[in-house]
Amino acid sequence: MRLVFIGPPGAGKGTQCKRLVELLNIPHLSTGEMLRAVKKQETALSRWVASYIDAGRLAPDHVVMRIVAQKLQSEECVNGALFDGFPRTLIQAQLLDDYLADQGLKLDMALELKVEEEELIQRLLKRAQIDGRVDDNYDTIRERLHVFHTQTAPLTEYYAKQGKLEVVNGMQSADQVFEDIKACVERHR
Ligand code: AMP
Repeated sequence: MRLVFIGPPGAGKGTQCKRLVELLNIPHLSTGEMLRAVKKQETALSRWVASYIDAGRLAPDHVVMRIVAQKLQSEECVNGALFDGFPRTLIQAQLLDDYLADQGLKLDMALELKVEEEELIQRLLKRAQIDGRVDDNYDTIRERLHVFHTQTAPLTEYYAKQGKLEVVNGMQSADQVFEDIKACVERHR
């Protein structure tokens, strides 16, 4: 199964993704993690990538697609994948659809996790204290939420038109959110 997980930063995607990849036995492809790994290397590319992440802005679509495509070519992705934090723009969604179509594959489902803005900010500020992520400060959080609303939220319509969208209420306990997600997965298997 191939699915896309859409949700603003702080919605709880990370927690739910861990459970979901275990349930479905598919790899977890988080572009945030991939880009943070690139950022750690001491290269010109890493400094360029860091400039986007640290400002809370999106890295260029084709760069992200190239990193994802490399992963998708690996053996572990033959039976599917969970895309976390990707696609983040309509262009990325189109690039992913085109890439999969070229391979004779397709996405099965897009899952949107919904959480109110104020709750997101509180969760992200709390995470900043625990994890110390450079991009979890107040200004960057605001910028990332703005980017989500303007660039990523339109994806839900894109996938709704394809009949692939499922929406889950993220303002519930983690266990209840996962129960709802499992029910969505069953509808698209
Ligand atoms: P995340 O861990 O998913 O919140 O991503 C952290 C940061 O990595 C984002 O704020 C962006 O700067 C960058 N990033 C992650 N995924 C993407 C993507 N699909 N397209 C562009 N930039 C991304």
